[in-house]
Amino acid sequence: MKEIKKNIRKSQILELIDTLSKKNYTPIYADNIVEARDIVLNLIPHGSSIALGGSVTINELNLIEPFKSNNYKLFDRYNQPDWPSTVECMRQGLLADYFVTSTNAITKNGELIQMDSGGNRVASLLYGPKNAIVICGINKLVDTCQDGLNRIQEFVGPLNSKRINHKTPCNISGKCENCNTKQRICNFTTIVKSGERVDGKTFIVIINEEVGY
Ligand code: SF4
Repeated sequence: MKEIKKNIRKSQILELIDTLSKKNYTPIYADNIVEARDIVLNLIPHGSSIALGGSVTINELNLIEPFKSNNYKLFDRYNQPDWPSTVECMRQGLLADYFVTSTNAITKNGELIQMDSGGNRVASLLYGPKNAIVICGINKLVDTCQDGLNRIQEFVGPLNSKRINHKTPCNISGKCENCNTKQRICNFTTIVKSGERVDGKTFIVIINEEVGY
């Protein structure tokens, strides 16, 4: 039964890969997170600089340690003495060779939908770094943009508020309360419709497993 499910999901991903290819992305299928990790590491030449979007997916793939090695120059936002230094690190990362991130939802039509509290993740995906690698588990696949936006509001926002302990109503109640707080987790929401503008910039690794939120 497990195998049948996996094969059905694989067909869905391969259909999506076809759609994404037509939008000038470089989509890549990964059977599991181990394979996905190898794919990501093989995409980035040694010596490259790397910036990161905040992402449970990246942690689950155990990518931080190899990124910290001497093979790469990591803009290490997780290892700064204070918040101003973290912000400066993220600013410097806007000119990285590779920006590695996840997405919050991806539609059947190949739209990428993401939310952000501070803006660095959505900004870096749109413009700045020479290349972007988006890593996406099967759980992020949705039918429409509205489904993706609902997913963010009902699920991703509250869960991430809780995870990083932002002082928001959803951190306590577990549901969106349309707040206007200083630490609002969903200040910025982007829908990226196409990769047409810059040839070869964006790789999308889609994993046939549930990964991240
Ligand atoms: S609007 Fe506020 S309550 Fe709703 S998901 Fe965003 S941070 Fe949470």
